[in-house]
Amino acid sequence: MASQETATHKYVYDFAEGNKDLKDLLGGKGANLAEMTNLGLPVPPGFTITTEACKTYLATGTEPPELADQIATHLAALEREMGRRLGDPADPLLVSVRSGAKFSMPGMMETVLNVGLNDESVVGLARQAEAAGTAGAERFAWDSYRRLIQMFGKTVCNVPGEEFEHALEGAKRAKGTSDDLGLDATDLRALVDAYKTIFVKHTGRDFPQSPREQLDLAIKAVFESWNAERAVLYRRQERIPADLGTAVNVVAMVFGNLGPDSGTGVAFTRDPASGAQGIYGDYLANAQGEDVVAGIRNTVPLQELERINKPAYDELLGIMARLEEHYQDLCDIEFTIERGKLWMLQTRVGKRTAAAAFIIAAQLVDEGLIDLDEALHRVNGDQLAQLMFPRFKVEHDIEPIARGIAASPGAAVGRAVFDGKRAVELAGQGERVILVRRETNPDDLPGMIAAQGVLTSRGGKTSHAAVVARGMGKTCVCGADALDVDVPGRKFTVAGQVVAEGDVISIDGTTGKVYLGEVPVWPSEVVRYFEGTIDPERSGDPLVSAVHRIMSHADQRRRLAVRANADTGEDAARARRFGAQGIGLCRTEHMFLGDRRELVERLILARDDAEREAALAALLPLQRADFVEIFREMDGQAVTVRLIDPPLHEFLPPLEQLAVNVAVAQERGEDVAKEEALLAAVRRMHEQNPMLGLRGVRLGLVVPGLFAMQVRAIVEAAVECAKGGGNPRPEIMVPLVGAVQELETVRAEAEKIIAEVTRERAVEVLIGTMIEVPRAALTAGQIAEAAEFFSFGTNDLTQMGWGFSRDDVEGAFFWRYLELGIFGISPFESMDRDGVGRLVRIATEEGRATRPGLKLGICGEHGGDPESVHFFHEVGLDYVSCSPFRVPVARLEAGRAVVEATGSDSR
Ligand code: ADP
Ligand code: MG
Ligand code: MG
Repeated sequence: MASQETATHKYVYDFAEGNKDLKDLLGGKGANLAEMTNLGLPVPPGFTITTEACKTYLATGTEPPELADQIATHLAALEREMGRRLGDPADPLLVSVRSGAKFSMPGMMETVLNVGLNDESVVGLARQAEAAGTAGAERFAWDSYRRLIQMFGKTVCNVPGEEFEHALEGAKRAKGTSDDLGLDATDLRALVDAYKTIFVKHTGRDFPQSPREQLDLAIKAVFESWNAERAVLYRRQERIPADLGTAVNVVAMVFGNLGPDSGTGVAFTRDPASGAQGIYGDYLANAQGEDVVAGIRNTVPLQELERINKPAYDELLGIMARLEEHYQDLCDIEFTIERGKLWMLQTRVGKRTAAAAFIIAAQLVDEGLIDLDEALHRVNGDQLAQLMFPRFKVEHDIEPIARGIAASPGAAVGRAVFDGKRAVELAGQGERVILVRRETNPDDLPGMIAAQGVLTSRGGKTSHAAVVARGMGKTCVCGADALDVDVPGRKFTVAGQVVAEGDVISIDGTTGKVYLGEVPVWPSEVVRYFEGTIDPERSGDPLVSAVHRIMSHADQRRRLAVRANADTGEDAARARRFGAQGIGLCRTEHMFLGDRRELVERLILARDDAEREAALAALLPLQRADFVEIFREMDGQAVTVRLIDPPLHEFLPPLEQLAVNVAVAQERGEDVAKEEALLAAVRRMHEQNPMLGLRGVRLGLVVPGLFAMQVRAIVEAAVECAKGGGNPRPEIMVPLVGAVQELETVRAEAEKIIAEVTRERAVEVLIGTMIEVPRAALTAGQIAEAAEFFSFGTNDLTQMGWGFSRDDVEGAFFWRYLELGIFGISPFESMDRDGVGRLVRIATEEGRATRPGLKLGICGEHGGDPESVHFFHEVGLDYVSCSPFRVPVARLEAGRAVVEATGSDSR
C-alpha cells in the first residue's frame, strides 16, 4: 500500500505546473517562479523539487526512491525545450540549483550556478558563445567554470571559501588589476587549475566531471543546507518552524556575464524604507547574479539601465508594475539581462521596515489595491512597538563604527564599561553606562540592570544577553563581531579604533548599529500621536496618518476590549490616552510604601486588636484617596483593584540591614526595643519560598481586618466619586485563590462592607478573582459560583504551571532552553498555548458553564504580547490588560486576530 502511494507521489513540478499559493510545497522562490511563468513573464524554464522530498531526505538520509527518475524526466523535458543537453560537450545546457524555503531566509542557504560545466563543455560553451557573436567568448566560458568550481566547492563540499577568494585575489594582484573584469581567458583558465587543486586538497577527490553527478550532489547539498547551523539559528530568531524543509529549483542558466550588453540586478517596486513609489534598485553590467547579492563589485543605480539598454529597462518597469498589481504589495525582484534580453529570476513580496509596513499598507488602500482588513493584516504589533521606541536622530554623516544583531529595541547612550561591577558602581554615581562584553552570563545580571543598554561581540538573538535584555525591556545589540572586546584591558577595538572604559557610545537596538559618541535621541512621533500631541489629520506625516487609519480600523474590528495595568492616577490617565478601556489590574502594594511603611510596621508589630485596628484605620483614608484619584481618571470605565498580594515582610527592612542596625545601636547603648521587635518579626516571617508562602488571599484570611480595610477604602472612594457626579465602576479582585472556600470567605466579609457603605449611595461593585494558581484553573467551575469575573494572572500561572521561579530562571538557564529548542520563546514572554494555555481554556469553559455571564480577562505580561493576544481572542476572553505602553499593540493585535482568518501568510 505505502509503496504504491509513494510510487505515484509527485516530487517534481515544472514551473508551468505551480503557482504562488503552493509555497508550502514549492517554497517561496519556486512558487513565485511558477507564478511569473504563468503570467507569461520571461522566466528561464526549470522545475522545482518539493519540500516533501527534502523532508524525506532529512528524515531518512536518502532521497525518496522515485526522485531520481522524476528529475530525469523533467530534465529531459527541459533539455528538449532548450534544445541542448545538460553538459553536452559541444553545446552545453547549464542550470542553476537554488534553494528556496517557504519563508525567505536571506543568505542562509545555498545556490550553485553553472552546473553542467566541465573540462570539455567549457570549450563547447566558448565556441557557442563565439558563434553567437560574443566578443570575449572564451573569457566568459572560463569565468563561468571558475565560478562553478568555487560555488560548488564551497557549498556542496565545504571547501573553505577564503581559499578560492585568496586565489582570485592572487590572480588579480599578479595581473595588476583590482577588478575581476581585468582577468582574461588565460588568467581564468589558470585560476580554474588553481581552484581544482584547492578542491582536491580539501575533498580528496577531483572536481566531478559528470554533469548529472554535479546536479545530484548540488541538490543534496541544498537539502542539507536546511540544517546548517546558521540556518537553524536564523529560524530560531525569526520563529520559523524547523520542520518545513526547503525546495530546490533547477533553472536553465541565462548569462549576465556575456559582455557589456549583459548584466544582472535587483530591484524593489517601491522604496522598502519609506514606501515611496519610484525606482529602487542596483544594476551590474557583465556579471553573474551572486556578484550583486554579495556586493563584490560596485553597482550602478537601476536608473542608469535606461541609458545602457532602454528597451530592457522599459520592459523591466512594465513587469514591475504588473507584479505589484498582481501581488498587491511591494515586491522585490532579481533579474538578468543576457545580450540585451531581460530574464526574471526571482520575485517575492519584499521585506520592509516597520514604518514602511504601515505606510505601504495605507498607500495600497488609497490606490484601491487592498482593503483596510488586508492593510491591518499586513502590519503587526512588533512593528508598532518598534515605532514607539525613541529613535536616534541619525543624520546622514554619522557612520556606525560597527553593526550587530538588533536584539532588543531602543536607543541607548552611555559610557562603555566592561564588567558588571563597574557598571553598578558608575550607575550608582548617576552615570549612564553601556555594558560591553564578549558575551554575557548570569553573573552579569546586576550590571545589565544598572546599564542603559548591553552590547556584545558574540551570540545571536537567543544568546543570554539578548534574551535577558528583551525580558527586561533593555536595549541590546549583540553579536557585533567586528568588536574585539578586551575585558581585562577595559577596552574594545574596532577597525583599528580603540574605545576605552568611560568613552561614550550609542547603541541602536532597533537597527543593530553602534556609534561612537552621543547620538541625540528623538521621541517617537507615533507615541506623540497616541498621546494626542500630534493631530493625525493635519500632521502631514505619512507614518502618523497611516498608523491612525489602521489603528482606527483595528478598533472597529476587534472583539477583545483592551485595558491597562495602572496603579496611579497618572498611569491611568496615560493609559486612557493610549486607548485603554479601563484598568484590568490596579495593584495596591505601592499604597503601603514610602512614608506609609511606618503604618505597615505598626500593623505587623501590633500586640493586640486595638493596635492593629488603629494602624488599619490610619491606612484607610490614604488608600481611599488613591482610589478616588484612579476612579476619577477612569470615570465610566471598569477599574479592577487587586487586594494586597505580596507577603507583608516585603514592606519591612531586609533582615541583614535590621540585624546590623540593632547591633550598632546596642553598641552605642541606644534604645533598640522597636528595632528588636521588628527584627524578631522579620525572623518570624522569613520564608524559604516567599512566592509560595503567606501572600494574596492567604494574607487576607490570616491578618484580620486587612482586606476589610481595603474593601472599605475602595467602596468609600467609589461612593465619594458617585456623589461628585462621577460614574465609578470598581471591581474587587482577590489574588492567589486556589479554592472556592477562600473566595467565599473573603466575599462574605466584603459583601457586608459593600452593603453598609453603599447604603447612602448605590454603586455597583463586582467581586471576582485572579486565576493564577493551577488549582484555581482546574476548579474554575466551583470558583465561578463565588466570582463575577476571572482575571488570568498568567505570570504566576506560568510560574506555577512550569514550576519556574520567574526571577531566577530567565537569567540562569533560559538561554540554554532556547538553544535546545525546548521552547522557541520564553513562556513568560509569549503564552505557552499547549500547557499554561490549556489551563486558561479549561477555566474559561468551566467558569462559563457555571456562570454564563462571567467576565473574563487577563492581566499578566502576556496581555501585551502579539501572539498571546491572538490566543486570548481565540479562547474567547472579554478583554486583555497590559502596561499602558503596550495598549496600542494589544488594540492592533486584537483587530488583527479578527481579520486573520481571511488573510494570507504575513511573513
Ligand atoms: P538567494 O536566495 O540567495 O537570492 P538565488 O537562488 O536567488 O539565491 O540565486 C542568487 C542569484 O544567482 C540570483 O539572484 C541570480 O542573479 C543568480 N541566478 C540564479 N539562477 C540563475 C539562472 N538560472 N541564470 C542566471 N542567474 C541565476
Ligand atoms: Mg535570490
Ligand atoms: Mg500573581
